[in-house]
Amino acid sequence: MKQYNHFIGGEYKPSVNGGTMDIINPATGKKYAELAAGDAADVKLAYEAAHAAKDGWAMTPLAERQAIMQRIATLIEEKNEILAQAEMLDSGKPIMHARRIDIPRASANFAFFAAAASQLASESHYMPGQAINYTLRQPYGVVGCISPWNLPLYLFTWKIAPAIAAGNTVVAKPSEMTPVTAAMLGDICNEAGLPPGVLNIVHGTGPDVGEAIVRHEDIKVISFTGSTAVGKRIAGICAEQLKKASLELGGKNPVIIFGDCDYDEMLKTTIRSSFSNQGQICLCGSRILVQWDIYDRFVSDFTERVQRLTVGDPTDPETKLGAVISEGHMKKVLSYIELAKEEGGEVLAGGHQVHLPAPNDGGSFIAPTVITGLDQNCRTNQEEIFGPVVTIMPFQTEEEAIALANNTTYGLASVVWTDRLDRAHRVAGQINAGIVWINCWLLRDLRTPFGGVKNSGMGREGGWEAIRFFTEPKNVTIQYDHGED
Ligand code: NAD
Repeated sequence: MKQYNHFIGGEYKPSVNGGTMDIINPATGKKYAELAAGDAADVKLAYEAAHAAKDGWAMTPLAERQAIMQRIATLIEEKNEILAQAEMLDSGKPIMHARRIDIPRASANFAFFAAAASQLASESHYMPGQAINYTLRQPYGVVGCISPWNLPLYLFTWKIAPAIAAGNTVVAKPSEMTPVTAAMLGDICNEAGLPPGVLNIVHGTGPDVGEAIVRHEDIKVISFTGSTAVGKRIAGICAEQLKKASLELGGKNPVIIFGDCDYDEMLKTTIRSSFSNQGQICLCGSRILVQWDIYDRFVSDFTERVQRLTVGDPTDPETKLGAVISEGHMKKVLSYIELAKEEGGEVLAGGHQVHLPAPNDGGSFIAPTVITGLDQNCRTNQEEIFGPVVTIMPFQTEEEAIALANNTTYGLASVVWTDRLDRAHRVAGQINAGIVWINCWLLRDLRTPFGGVKNSGMGREGGWEAIRFFTEPKNVTIQYDHGED
């Protein structure tokens, strides 16, 4: 059986302690490969490789850095099919999702930050007749990047690309649930000519490897995407050690639908924003708030469309919804559906596991689920479920919609559907979230700041925000004239 190993100093290596763990395909429930399960000893080796590479990489001319990163982007694009197949096997997501979204975006992340690398500039502040200041933005050296399972290569590269574009070297950990595309990235980096040690990938569990990266006293910067609970734990460790951290965490995103919106466009997009990637995108809208005048019509049309969505074998190009990430996660999502019923919710669509024929008979599939009749304050509407489950709630006025939208401890993304310009801007200004989409969803410009407020995180990724995060400013002042000859 194939074993995926750590990628350290440009070479694949098993764990120092010899440990391994299983890689399971959630669409079949079967183990199909093994993963090196590392610990602090492997993180130490990865750090040493990154440390040895850091000065050389920081001094590599920007054009060369850019060319290597662009080659990585091109290779990811050329290998779309094998990477998409790997992503599908690891995560259970439909092959079309992996082909069209996950892998192209991983390539785009490298291409985007390759271009950014060539544009790095210092600021300067002139004090007339007296002095000039210039502010260098220097790489930190070795940084740590930790990513989740829902968009594996997409989110892994979203951190690594800006980190290395800014001249850092990296110790990275992908989710142990979906490690394969990250493991494949090692070969791609070698083929593209990335010097050994610039990117080091250590596999294993969060407590054994992730926490060893966060606690490593010489890794001064941590970029983390994952759950709020783990994010808070990491924030605590970083605070003790005075480390810089960027935390992209969970969400409970509202979709606010006003009666004056473009109904057909809204309906089509709301299906996507609810169930793409089985609802396992941190940006999916899980609380749909609908104005009373179109509430009955929306509930009926939406439910009817959801019932037509095909949950199926991820290898089938027609499949719209694949497996959720694991049997454990399926049970958690199903337990939330039971909770919703106990809380007085009415399940209008889905609400159950889907059993498919072999080879998917051991897989973890859930029917897309629509629930009405719940109060905003109940646990179903407050806690992140992170699966194919949405609730629908009515509202009367704009004020009521904003209050409902903001009544959550999270604040990542939001969607507003309205054809009134004044309303769109007014509501956008009042929603407590890092991202507001008006009459669209998941329309991404990689230059824009990406991140959340409240329990959804701290800091921003994307564009210059990411480059700034991965660089330390240093101001240099030169006085012109000391008043002496
Ligand atoms: P998770 O927090 O369980 O794990 C994320 C990563 O952290 C994994 O690589 C894991 O191994 C590692 N980890 C776990 N414990 C750790 C520890 N003690 N120290 C260091 N690392 C540790 O999250 P998940 O289940 O993989 O992902 C789902 C969550 O991620 C959801 O809450 C979702 O909303 C969130 N998410 C947020 C964004 C965003 O941009 N805000 C994007 C995607 C996913």
